[in-house]
Amino acid sequence: MQLRTENATQTVAWGKKLGHLLQAQDLLLLDGDLGAGKTTFTQGLAQGLGITRPIKSPTFTLIREYQMGRIPLYHMDMYRLEDSSPEELGLSEYFAGDGVVVMEWSQFVADFLPAQYLRIQITRLAQADEQRQLTFQAQGQRYQELVASLRK
Ligand code: ADP
Ligand code: MG
Repeated sequence: MQLRTENATQTVAWGKKLGHLLQAQDLLLLDGDLGAGKTTFTQGLAQGLGITRPIKSPTFTLIREYQMGRIPLYHMDMYRLEDSSPEELGLSEYFAGDGVVVMEWSQFVADFLPAQYLRIQITRLAQADEQRQLTFQAQGQRYQELVASLRK
C-alpha cells in the first residue's frame, strides 16, 4: 500500500490511525533518509497507543521506552549501534515482549530481525516540499491484516 501526505500533521494522523490497531509484539520498521519523517510518524503511533508524552528521537540512547499507553512502546534507532551488540541491547526480548517495537535504521541489525514485520518506507517527493510518500510492505499474515485494516 502507498499513500501520500502533504505535511507533518497528515503523517502524524496516519501514525495515530495505525497506533490504534497495534498489539503487543508488533514490529514496525521505519525506513527513510534523515528528516524523512520516521520520528514524526512515531509521534502519531504513540498518540494512537494513548501515549501523551512527546516522542524524542532515540538517536543516542538507541532505545526509548514509553510505558504510559495502552501497551508499551519501544522506540529504537539503530543508526549509532556501533559498540553495542543486538544481544546486549536485548533485542530478541523486546521482540517477544509486552509491547510494540518501532525501529528506525533497522538495516544495522538486519540479521537479528524476525521474519515477520511491517516495513514503512517514507520518502520525500520533492526537496523543500512537505510532501511524503509512505509505502507499507507487510511480511506475514498479521501485518497484511494490519495494512488491510489501515486502508479502511
Ligand atoms: P526522521 O526521523 O526520518 O529523521 P523526523 O521525523 O525527525 O525525521 O523529521 C521530519 C521533519 O520533516 C520534521 O521537522 C517534520 O515536521 C518535517 N515534515 C515536513 N513535512 C512532513 C511530512 N509530510 N511528514 C513528516 N514530516 C514532515
Ligand atoms: Mg528519527
